[in-house]
This record gives sequence, structure tokens and C-alpha cells, in this order.
Amino acid sequence: MIRPGSVSIVGAGPGDPELITVKALKAIHAADVILYDRLVNEELLSYAGSGSIRIYCGKAPGQHAMPQGTIQRRLIEYALEGKRVVRLKGGDPFVFGRGGEEVLALAARGIPYEVIPGITSAIGAAAASGVPLTHRGVAASFACVTGSRCPGESDGQVGPPIRWDLLAHAVDTLVIYMGVGQLKEIRAELLRHGKAGSTPVALIESGTTGRQRTFVSTLTEMHKLAAAVQLSNPALIIVGEAAAIREQLRQLQDQASAMLG
Ligand code: SAH
Repeated sequence: MIRPGSVSIVGAGPGDPELITVKALKAIHAADVILYDRLVNEELLSYAGSGSIRIYCGKAPGQHAMPQGTIQRRLIEYALEGKRVVRLKGGDPFVFGRGGEEVLALAARGIPYEVIPGITSAIGAAAASGVPLTHRGVAASFACVTGSRCPGESDGQVGPPIRWDLLAHAVDTLVIYMGVGQLKEIRAELLRHGKAGSTPVALIESGTTGRQRTFVSTLTEMHKLAAAVQLSNPALIIVGEAAAIREQLRQLQDQASAMLG
């Protein structure tokens, strides 16, 4: 149970509010303060105590998101006041969630913390769209990769370059986060490094939510399809033969329902 004067860094899951852990729900319920992100389903806040403080850290329309340094300072300040603090994030805190930076900041100040994992959007969206990330005889490995060249750029932090040359060959299924704005560059990199243009690609928008849209294309064609359907964030790009399983599933379902008449 979350203690006064401590911080829980909590994964809220991929979008469907039921895809959260029991432990995370208990932490939300017990929290005095909740700092939550844009990708967190706000329905989850209904589990918070009525007296709790809720602070939105995402981007309000026309405004900037709360800077990472400010979020970290707030976590520390509330914990030092003796509050039970929950830092609620979409998906999993340690998968493109900046949870690592937050625990480092807390550890540096000696603030007690815990990390409660969440279902990351790759796992959630794969399940909800019929794209197995591994599949016997088809895909024996998957990797989660950022499609944005410079993760955290707005805070002046530039990540190491992404090794598309290695990823194109070493991993069977690539799940690309934050890639919608970079589809052409991702396509160019993978093709340049020898990934077949016919490789199946699934594009999944708002995975696991009632607004989910899924499209299947190929590496060559994916940017055109994304433009045609106005693919928008949050969305994932899954590149690999496993993406074709979705089509296989659909065909089987159609055949089965035709047989049942
Ligand atoms: N910590 C989060 C990722 C945050 S980065 C996690 O574990 O899932 C933000 C990116 O996550 C988005 O650009 C998008 O690529 C992906 N994403 C998050 N939620 C999503 C959803 N419901 N459907 C598709 N992609 C999602």
C-alpha cells in the first residue's frame, strides 16, 4: 500500500480503462495527489478519492506540456509534504514514459518510490487488432522502437541515433511508437537498409479504445494509406510478417460466417 511521503509511478495501460492492474487501481484510490498525462484515460480518475488533488501534465490545446523538470519538482515537493503521490502515465512508465528520469530524480532526493507496471500500447494494440507480435514460424522476436528522431527534444535531450540498419534485419516484428509524423523517414530508412517493400505493416490508431482504427498495408505503401485515412495520434506502426496474420484471421472469420450462413 502506498505510504505517505512516497511516490508511485503508475502505468495506466494502453487506453481501455479496464486494462489497468489491481495494484495501480489501489494506488489511484489511496492517492492524495495524482499527476496524470495526456494518454491516461480520464475515466480512471473516477477511482480517486474525492478529496484528492488531480494535476494534468499533458498539453492543453494551444499550450505546452508541463516541462519534465517541473513535474519532477512537483513530485518531490508533494512527497516532502507527506502526501501519497501517484504519477499516472499511459501504457507502462518504463516504455517511452520517462519513468526512468522520474525515479532517478526521486532517488537523488531520497524519496521513497515504487513503479507499478502497465500494459504498454504495443501489447494492448497487438491484442486488440489481431497482430501477434511473435508467431510460430513467422516471428521469433519483436522490438519496441521510437520513430521520433530526437526523443525528448523539447527538453533539450537528444537520444542516441536509432540503428535502423540493424533493426531492419535483426528483429522480426518492429513496433514503432511516436512514428506517425515520421512515416516517410521510417519507410526510407528501412527500405534503404534492405527491408522488403512487400513487408506487411499494421497501423493502429487509439488501440484498445472505442475509437480504435486498424489498417494493414505494406512498407512501400504505408505512408500513402496513412495519409488517405488521416491516421492520427496516438498510433503505432507494426512492421513485419506477423502483421499479415490479422488479414488471415479476417479471411477465416469471413469464411466461417459464410459457412454458418
Ligand atoms: N508509455 C507509453 C508510451 C508513451 S509514448 C506506453 O507504454 O504505451 C506515446 C506513443 O505511444 C504514441 O505516440 C503512440 O505511438 C503510442 N501509443 C500510446 N497509446 C496508444 C494507443 N492507445 N494506441 C496506439 N498507440 C499508442
